[in-house]
Amino acid sequence: MSAPLHEARPAGPGRALPDTQQGMRRRNLSRVLHTVSAEGPLSRAAVASRIGLTRAAVSTLVDELIRSGLLEELGPERPGRVGRPGSALAVSGRGPAGIGAEIGVDHLAVCAVDLRGRIRSRAVRQVANRGRSPGPVIGELTELVHRVVAEAEAESLWPAGLAVAVPGLVARDARTVVRAPNLGWRDTDLGALLPGRFPLTVANEANFGALAELWLGEGTPRDFLHVSAEIGIGAAVVVDGRLLRGNRGFAGELGHVPVRPEGPECACGGRGCLEQYAGEEAVLRAAGLEPGEDRVGLLAGRAEQGDADVRRALRDAGTALGIALTGAVNLLDPESVVLGGALSGLAPWLLPSLRSELSRRTAGPVCPVSVSALGPQGPLLGAAHSVVRGVLDDPAAFAERA
Ligand SMILES: [Zn+2]
Repeated sequence: MSAPLHEARPAGPGRALPDTQQGMRRRNLSRVLHTVSAEGPLSRAAVASRIGLTRAAVSTLVDELIRSGLLEELGPERPGRVGRPGSALAVSGRGPAGIGAEIGVDHLAVCAVDLRGRIRSRAVRQVANRGRSPGPVIGELTELVHRVVAEAEAESLWPAGLAVAVPGLVARDARTVVRAPNLGWRDTDLGALLPGRFPLTVANEANFGALAELWLGEGTPRDFLHVSAEIGIGAAVVVDGRLLRGNRGFAGELGHVPVRPEGPECACGGRGCLEQYAGEEAVLRAAGLEPGEDRVGLLAGRAEQGDADVRRALRDAGTALGIALTGAVNLLDPESVVLGGALSGLAPWLLPSLRSELSRRTAGPVCPVSVSALGPQGPLLGAAHSVVRGVLDDPAAFAERA
């Protein structure tokens, strides 16, 4: 199997498959699978009416998806309905799974998500990765991947691909980390270091966080700005349901937007970047606290107790976020801004100053700012789901393994 998995693939059916009869069949397989995934369990007749194909055509497609192990029949629909009972179809809880992985500044995480979107296996390890060379980090990550894959395989799943979220800039080849200032990595080819057993996609963690919000968030609009943080601050721009990647794939580096041009030096080489005011370590420093393991927990706990220094540091971080976001909002006019990642846990103390800064500085009606329910899980879930979406988008490419 050599299907490339890339998070930049347009979500949903209708992506660029060849305009031949074969291409049409593959598109229709995807439409059926997407429909059952979004609305199932459904009968063949219900699928046919949803996608506007004949019942006979849908039956042929459904049979192919069942043979491929991507759909399963749940048995006859409940009796008492008018007409011949149809069999309800659901996406398979066995078969392909998306393996998502995350390299954080102080943790590694891996999970397996099945076609139904359920997490079937997960492994997390707290480890300080800053300044470590890529080899040992990837070695540990590989160990976790093997563990999660083995657990998934024990439940009749097989890995359809591996997607890795990293806190840095990733080249368009979707495997080379060009620069990860908070890890200290440059031009690191993760493809050469990770197990070559399945297709690999590497992408910025903020991009995967935004995709998770788009796919899993409740009522997420199709045009929004997603901001997330741990030590660094990343953002992703989603336009009409797709990531805006920029010329080199580096769009969204909100953390290095200058808030005060003469401010403190930043790991990127610039000065006064947003990260220097609103990154977790910067906030801890401003509050007079030592960076420990559970930085967000420490800040949230102190803020809840009414610690004046912590509250002031968070208020100032919110102001800095508001200043940086003003530029982005004025430029892009998104429907909303979503705070994700670690920021979501600190939202009660960041939001008031962030909102007031935004409303003071933006033209027109104030852009709403909401908080992601996915929190720090976003990038890992987005990575795993990007693989699952790849299967839904072109099931024919994955059928041969089933
Ligand atoms: Zn910077």
